[in-house]
Formats: sequence, structure tokens, C-alpha cells
Amino acid sequence: MSEQHATTAGDSCDVAVIGGGMVGLASAIALRERGLDVVLLDPGEARARTSFGNAGVISRGSILPMAGPALWGKLPAYLRNADRALRLRYTHLPRVLPWTVHFLAAARTSAWRRAAGALLPLTSAAYTEHERLAARAGTTHLLKRTGWIKAYRTDEAFAAAALERAILAEHGVAMDLLDGPGLRDLEPALVRPFARAMLLPETGSVGDPGALVEACAALFAGLGGRTIRAATRGLAPEAEGWRIDVEAGPVFARQVVLAAGAASADIARPLGYRFAFAAERGYHRHYALHPDSPPLTRPILDTGAGSILAPMGEARVRVLSGVELDARDAPPDHIQIEAAAREAMGTLRLGGPLDNQPWLGARPSTPDGLPVIGRAPRHPGLIFAFGHGHIGLSTGPVTGQIVADLATGRPPRLPLEPFSPERLLRWPRL
Ligand SMILES: Cc1cc2nc3c(=O)[nH]c(=O)nc-3n(C[C@H](O)[C@H](O)[C@H](O)COP(=O)(O)OP(=O)(O)OC[C@H]3O[C@@H](n4cnc5c(N)ncnc54)[C@H](O)[C@@H]3O)c2cc1C
Repeated sequence: MSEQHATTAGDSCDVAVIGGGMVGLASAIALRERGLDVVLLDPGEARARTSFGNAGVISRGSILPMAGPALWGKLPAYLRNADRALRLRYTHLPRVLPWTVHFLAAARTSAWRRAAGALLPLTSAAYTEHERLAARAGTTHLLKRTGWIKAYRTDEAFAAAALERAILAEHGVAMDLLDGPGLRDLEPALVRPFARAMLLPETGSVGDPGALVEACAALFAGLGGRTIRAATRGLAPEAEGWRIDVEAGPVFARQVVLAAGAASADIARPLGYRFAFAAERGYHRHYALHPDSPPLTRPILDTGAGSILAPMGEARVRVLSGVELDARDAPPDHIQIEAAAREAMGTLRLGGPLDNQPWLGARPSTPDGLPVIGRAPRHPGLIFAFGHGHIGLSTGPVTGQIVADLATGRPPRLPLEPFSPERLLRWPRL
């Protein structure tokens, strides 16, 4: 990350952005492009960001949150940790009780439909905003309009996803339904026989999300943005704005954008905001495709394994695990990614792992699957931009534009009511 260390106390700026993942960087770039003096604060190495290690999928169809009506049928398996898509650390559950209550309340057909409608404007703008950002960051070669596939191992599993397809169709999301041979024709690298599949063609993918984020950091620096590699230790409102405490001394800003991913709720808590929030942890590991295998040309969600296989370059596949509900800083537990890797070996012709250890990141998760984007209810100079869950890589750039709209007093380009912070600060009606 291009950076400038805070060597003197008292640095000041128009806007301080806390967090240098996809959301924070896109916000910092958009703010800088609107002529504001911006300081970005982030302590981490590139790998520490969730934006580094995801599947890189940018899909207009990513509008259906985890909490859907199908949850109730899967709950017994989830509770026994017998479904690979979700792993619960029971000792952690009391700490995420508000998240859990909201999550269960959101698992209704009506709420799922509403969430889909709320997310559609965001996901519909995602690819275009990525293209614009990539053109400026010099990363268009990383972005491809590949489509992505949800593959089902049995006809029953495909039939069980009928409501998902109905909601996507209601919202005009394009999809092609494939049988097993059709899928095999499309992706000859697959060796596992799948029964059915859904191709979502209005989808792009990023071949190296970490490189994209690095390029965005360089773009921000090139625009004259300042980066301080330090963790925010505290945030206090002052008469003229905000004081942000970092190790080298305070930074003063007229406005603050809180975009620290899974750490955001902890940073907001001392200001009196107790969000229903959790870290949905996820792992990845890379494997080489066998030299005789055809390339994998687009990401695939193997719904039977609860994991994603994403091509990262011609001959490298990133295997990504489902969700692990645990404290964001708890030690890693490789059981889920090891299971995902075993399944992947039966799906593609893969060699051994290319990394020494699996990567671990934490999706910043709101229980209803909608991000928090908006002004803090009691602190007008504070803008929240976090909680993008499973879609933060894709919707980061459009969120950045919305943040810049808010900070410069322009009407936001999308309806923000569904993303209001208030909804996660009170208990839901059950
Ligand atoms: C396995 C997996 C697969 C995924 N696949 C996809 C996908 O295909 N498509 C998609 O759109 N999304 C995907 N996601 C989700 C996506 O990666 C996240 O939603 C997104 O990265 C969140 O971005 P962010 O900027 O909010 O958070 P992050 O990228 O985590 O960035 C937050 C930053 O805040 C910094 N920070 C933390 N504490 C402080 C502090 N005190 N002071 C200052 N800075 C701080 C951190 O160092 C970090 O750099 C996936 C996630 C996982 C785990």
C-alpha cells in the first residue's frame, strides 16, 4: 500500500476514511476525485483485508442474502455443524445474540423479497462502477465479464432453489438453466457430474482481487491522497469535526467515513452504537489445475459442497469455504477449508496446494444481508459504510460513490433507506 506515516500529531483533512479495503479505498478515491483532502487510515497488510481474499464475483444477481426461508429446513444440519456451508462456534454465539435474533427474523419469504429489491440497484451498478474504477486504476485486464455458475449435484437440490430463481426472474436478472451435459459443455474442466446448473451471465469476475485493491491504493496515492498505516484507536466528536486517535498522534477531520469492514461495529460502539453485527469468516487456498485439464473459465458455486471454485489466472484455482461464525480474531480452524478442498478435488483435476497455509478473512456481516450506508444517527459528520457481507468486493466501488455523494451534500444516487444504520440498532419485530 502506498503510504505516508503520521509522524506529527495534529494532521488535519476534510475527510478521514477508516479502513482500506475495497469499500474504504473506493470511498477515499471518490472523495479525492471530488476535490476533498482525504486521509485513509489502515493498519493492515494487504492480506489482512477481506477484500484481498474473496472469490472476485461481481454479479447483478447477488441479491439474495443468507437469511432466507430455506434456512428453517437447513437449521437442524446447521446446528449440528453438519452442513459445509455454515460452521458455528457455539462459545461465540452469546456474543452475536443480536445478530442471531435479527438473522432469524430476516429468514422469511417477504423479508427475502424485500432485501432482493433493496440490493438490486446496488448490484446492478456494481459492474459498471468496477469498469470505471479499473480504467482509472489500470486494472481492466483483471476484470472479465465471465458470468458465474451455481451448480447443483441433484435434481432435488435444484428444485429446492425454485424460490431463488423466481425472485431473480421477478427482478429481471438474466439466467440460463443448464442440465448436466450442458454444464459440462460450458465448463469442460469439471469432472464431477452435476445434475443442473444456473448460469448468471450478468456477472463479471476479478482475476486477482488483492492486485485490484493494491492498484486502488496506488491510484489513491497518485491522486494526492494520504495514507497513514495505523489502527484507529478512538474516535471523538469535536466542535469543528472529529479527532481520530492513532499511535503517532491525533488526526483531525471535518468528516469521518467508517469503512473498517468486520471491525467497524467495534469502532462505533464507544460512540453509543451497538450494531447487530457479526464476522462471517471464510477461508481460501490455491491449487494448480492439472496441466492436461481445460481451463476453468468462470467462478462456480458448488452448492453441494457450500464452496466456490474461482479461477485466478489460467492455471490456478482459488477454493473458498463457506461461512464460519466465530470471533473475527479467533485462531483459524481449517476443518471447513480442508473439506472444501477435498470436494474440489472431485470437481476439478487439481494438484497440491500452492500456499503453505489457507488464508482467512472475515465478511462484515449484517443479519439481513444489507450493508450499512448512511450518516450516523446522532453524529452528522460520521458516515457509516460497512457490513457488505458477501458482496463487498463487488459493491465497494458503487458504495464509494454514494459515500462521496453524502460527504459532499449531493442527493445519493440510490435509495438508502434500506441500508439505514437505525434498523440494526433496535431489536427486530418477530
Ligand atoms: C471467502 C470469501 C469469499 C467472498 N467472495 C466475494 C465475492 O465473490 N464477491 C464479493 O463481492 N464479495 C465477496 N466476499 C465479501 C467481500 O470480500 C467483503 O464484503 C469485502 O471485502 C468487505 O470489504 P471492506 O472494505 O468492507 O472490508 P475489508 O476488505 O476487510 O477492509 C477493512 C479494512 O479495515 C481495516 N481496519 C480494521 N480495523 C481498523 C482500525 N481500527 N483502524 C483502521 N483500519 C482498520 C482492515 O485492516 C482492513 O484493511 C467474500 C468474502 C469471503 C471471506
